[in-house]
Amino acid sequence: MSVWDYANPQLKDLVAYEPGKPIEDVARELGLAPEDIIKLASNENPLGPSPKAQEALQKVIAEAHIYPDGGGWKLRTAIAEKFGLARENVILGCGSNEVIEFIGHAFLKPGDNIITAEHAFLVYKLMAKVFGADTIEVPDPGYVHDLDAMAAAITPQTKEIFIANPNNPTGTLVSQEQIDRFMAQVPPHVVVVFDEAYYEFLDNPPDTLKYVREGRNVIVLRTFSKIQGLAGLRIGYGLGPPELIEVLQRTRQPFNTNAMAQAAALAGLLDQDHQDLTKRITDEGRDYLQGQFAEMGLEYVPSYANFVLVKVGDGNAVFKAMMQKGVIVRAMAAYKLPEWIRISIGTMDQCQRCIQVLKEVL
Ligand SMILES: *Cc1c(COP(=O)(O)O)cnc(C)c1O
Repeated sequence: MSVWDYANPQLKDLVAYEPGKPIEDVARELGLAPEDIIKLASNENPLGPSPKAQEALQKVIAEAHIYPDGGGWKLRTAIAEKFGLARENVILGCGSNEVIEFIGHAFLKPGDNIITAEHAFLVYKLMAKVFGADTIEVPDPGYVHDLDAMAAAITPQTKEIFIANPNNPTGTLVSQEQIDRFMAQVPPHVVVVFDEAYYEFLDNPPDTLKYVREGRNVIVLRTFSKIQGLAGLRIGYGLGPPELIEVLQRTRQPFNTNAMAQAAALAGLLDQDHQDLTKRITDEGRDYLQGQFAEMGLEYVPSYANFVLVKVGDGNAVFKAMMQKGVIVRAMAAYKLPEWIRISIGTMDQCQRCIQVLKEVL
């Protein structure tokens, strides 16, 4: 007898998420010094966390023996104030990824389905699978979500639709007009999730919070992992109408976000300078990378986020060859983009080294 005879059957063909390769792994496997390796594989902030977040972390170390505020009162209040919402509109997650899981707990069962774009963030499909639900993947011409086609794909069994804006790994954006036309077509039984992990990198972000204020069946996901540089602490949040947030609150563990993450996130949220600096460096790095790709004759997808998808031939081979030279990028075969790699935008020095190594490898 095997455990698989009585484990939940949908787990059998679930392929685990493969994260960006950690620097320590590469150093160990290739005998390189960790400080000679750069990681441009997980869309992390190359500047690190805000100095104010680091200071706040130091302060809470001595209180690590006390359980955190499971309700996240202070942080939820600060987030609500920032966006002109109420605390009841906010749920915290151990990364915004955890909120994706809450939404699954709340709405999905075997036989249901979710709708995503064909080249969407993989976690949506993985989470649906955990709950035994199917994923309808809608073609995305030019790697841009086709919201009209996604609305047309809704069935009576559809429970959730995910729109990552900008999307990862494509870096593409859908406009306010497209969103508004889409929202006019979505029936009330479908939860629309706008995953805005890269929201803070946009110059003119579409407004999806108006749908939260209107009480529509909408959850907006944001995170401290990207522009805030707190990916290692695992903290993100969802914004939605109070009743929807209350349903999600019932699905979470009592202490799902820890005290250090909450304290750092609170300090980081209020540090606009660090965010502005990160955005500026990202804008400069994006211009540089995209300019270099154009000069090299490489096809790329113009990005609105802190990474760029570029077509290099055999993505996996290029990923491995670059890694040998100490630059970790992301191969995209798992996203059905085997000819592409995704490069996170680092500091200008890191971007220049990355291009140098890419040229050597090609
Ligand atoms: C990085 C990312 C997230 C955020 O993940 P966390 O769990 O908050 O670290 C969510 N959605 C997308 C599309 C992302 O790229």
